[in-house]
Amino acid sequence: MDKKNFETDAIRTQLERSQFQEHSTPLYVTSGFVFEDAEDMRASFTEEKSRNIYSRFSNPNITEFVEKVVKMESAEDGYAFATGMAAIFSTFAALLNSGDHIVSARSVFGSTHTLFTKYFPKWNIETSYFDINNPKEIESLIKPSTKILYAESPTNPGVDIIDLELLGNIAKKHNLLLIIDNCFATPYIQQPIKFGADLVVHSATKLMDGQGRVLGGIVVGKAELVREIYLFSRNTGPSLSPFNAWVLSKSLETLAVRVEKHCENALKVAEFLENHSKISNVKYPFLPSHPQYITAKKQMKLGGNIIAVEIKGGIEAGKKFLNAIKMCSLSANLGDTKTIVTHPASTTHSKLAVEDQLAVGITPGLVRISIGLESISDIIQDLDQALNV
Ligand SMILES: *Cc1c(COP(=O)(O)O)cnc(C)c1O
Repeated sequence: MDKKNFETDAIRTQLERSQFQEHSTPLYVTSGFVFEDAEDMRASFTEEKSRNIYSRFSNPNITEFVEKVVKMESAEDGYAFATGMAAIFSTFAALLNSGDHIVSARSVFGSTHTLFTKYFPKWNIETSYFDINNPKEIESLIKPSTKILYAESPTNPGVDIIDLELLGNIAKKHNLLLIIDNCFATPYIQQPIKFGADLVVHSATKLMDGQGRVLGGIVVGKAELVREIYLFSRNTGPSLSPFNAWVLSKSLETLAVRVEKHCENALKVAEFLENHSKISNVKYPFLPSHPQYITAKKQMKLGGNIIAVEIKGGIEAGKKFLNAIKMCSLSANLGDTKTIVTHPASTTHSKLAVEDQLAVGITPGLVRISIGLESISDIIQDLDQALNV
């Protein structure tokens, strides 16, 4: 693989040009591909040949998108999916057997938590949870049947940070597969494989698309593991659409500049909110007041675009704030050019019991803000006027 620097890989990794010598990769909307003859078809199906057969297995636009992310994450191989959850589910389903055990951070994305608690037990796959603020307990949860160590950093929606190097060392010592959901950081900010992750999963729906248009997911990492996930997925069908892959591959060309600006805006908003009289707590990885600030600085290039704030006055004050917002959007997505304000307790994490919400740091007054790319003064003005209503 011809690997250059991050921004160059994101822009210059491209399919071979067609006979038209197009500058920008065209969209290959085709369900199937044709064979030269019977021998070509036979060899393709036995995988003696690496080529496109059917878009459930592979497609040129998907290949381009995957190759970019593989380079950006310094991985060996990857496979793309229709959504982030399809990537996460397929990764676990391909690698685990009945009777296997997962050790996971307690604060993970809501639907991932639902996989662990509602669906995996049906197949006799159990999960034990560690508190992200107490990683020392991880080793006490490991059993002979433990196969996967799983975490997100920063977490959704609490923006907690976990020491990836520590996880990498524990996984190595106990011969576990370390899988990291790197969605909030993106490969521009953090590359978990450098700290020992075997696989990295992403919801490409968020900062990778970055403009709130398409859904997508991807897993990258060790080639032999990706191969298992590929074989599972080519037979079960959670594939990414060529159109979404085309959009995502284009989006990656601007990932570095977008993420730089998202993070610059987010740090300014975090500093503003930290001094606001209506706010009792602000959590942002690159604020020195963040409990894991030192770890964040060690493993992240920038602080990300998500801020968690606690509004004084609990649930009522939180609702009043949301209702007073004028420009920013009330939406469940994140990582968009548009600034988005959401209330996890009543939306993304509403399926969790109140005590489970509290266990992962979701208090009734917690508001998650995904800082966008609008003018910083307009973002701050909107948040300020809504807090002061
Ligand atoms: C959104 C998200 C997912 C799920 O991705 P979809 O594309 O919505 O399926 C998984 N993990 C994290 C951290 C997310 O923010």
